[in-house]
Amino acid sequence: MFLTTIDKESCKGCYLCIPVCPKRLIKLGSEINKRGYHPAIITDTGECTGCRACFRMCPDLAIEIAKVV
Ligand code: SF4
Ligand code: SF4
Repeated sequence: MFLTTIDKESCKGCYLCIPVCPKRLIKLGSEINKRGYHPAIITDTGECTGCRACFRMCPDLAIEIAKVV
């Protein structure tokens, strides 16, 4: 099982991560961060396969993927 998180303050709302998730777990969030962007959010981290597609795509290293035992 993987715990995938997006650092809302590091996210610049480019949404490059959204279409690359094969499980369609990443969506546009409604919250606004300190820089005025709507950060992307992970909707169901329990479904994450840890494929790292989102991690590789993010230009701002805002996504962290941790394996949970
Ligand atoms: S790719 Fe990174 S910066 Fe762009 S929306 Fe996704 S988490 Fe945010
Ligand atoms: S690691 Fe893969 S399955 Fe998990 S959120 Fe990122 S793209 Fe989606």
